[in-house]
Amino acid sequence: MVIVDRDLCTGCGTCIPYCSVKAISMGDSFAQIDSRKCTDCYVCVRNKVCRVEAISKGPLETFYEQYRHLLSDPTETTAATGVPGRGTEEAKTNDVSGRVRSGEIGFAIDMGRPGMGVRMSDVEKVARAVTAAGLVLEPGHVSPLGKVLADLGTGEMQPGARDLFVLSVIIEGKCPEARAKGVLQALQQVSGEIESVFSLGLIMRPDREGDFSGLKILDELGIPRPHRGKVNIGLGRPLAEP
Ligand code: SF4
Ligand code: SF4
Repeated sequence: MVIVDRDLCTGCGTCIPYCSVKAISMGDSFAQIDSRKCTDCYVCVRNKVCRVEAISKGPLETFYEQYRHLLSDPTETTAATGVPGRGTEEAKTNDVSGRVRSGEIGFAIDMGRPGMGVRMSDVEKVARAVTAAGLVLEPGHVSPLGKVLADLGTGEMQPGARDLFVLSVIIEGKCPEARAKGVLQALQQVSGEIESVFSLGLIMRPDREGDFSGLKILDELGIPRPHRGKVNIGLGRPLAEP
């Protein structure tokens, strides 16, 4: 958590609107930080918001504190992928990584948002629901979420991670196309049980006719169009086998 030096703070309030999760409020005469909400994103420190430099970075002593910062500061480099961001390199580059094969559908469930954030206990609820429906989650060496799961097969979270509040995190996994409808239904059901929001990315390969049969499932479930698509190919590496 960031620290406010009460001897330096003038109580000007300039820092308050910079915090996207409303973790800063005004005390009697100085700014105060809500430790349950602060994600260690460092926006308030990095941008030199405070003219008298009363806000500074606190120590990230535990793995979980470092993890919260990693998932909340977009300038960080993740140990999982070696690139800035939250570890979606494999999903975005499926044409060359080949993680999702023909007949399979990959899921990238992007939980939380600036201005909202997400509690990891809510992430666990969703991870448990989709794994029960057949989604196989990505392990920790490619997906940051995998690093704090106690059981990849059930989506169970490590107890020490459940109370973390982060800006956003992505649940990544895949399943055979035949099970994708059940996973989507599980997502629809659990969406009413969480206090944050998520967006959904589906990773799939075209069939011989160039169609994406998995998209029909979205229509069957009444998920409204338009379904926006994105194609990444090449990247200077050979295409993976389908
Ligand atoms: S901007 Fe600095 S001086 Fe002003 S309230 Fe925030 S911490 Fe205090
Ligand atoms: S580090 Fe980020 S979340 Fe924490 S008080 Fe500063 S802006 Fe808010």
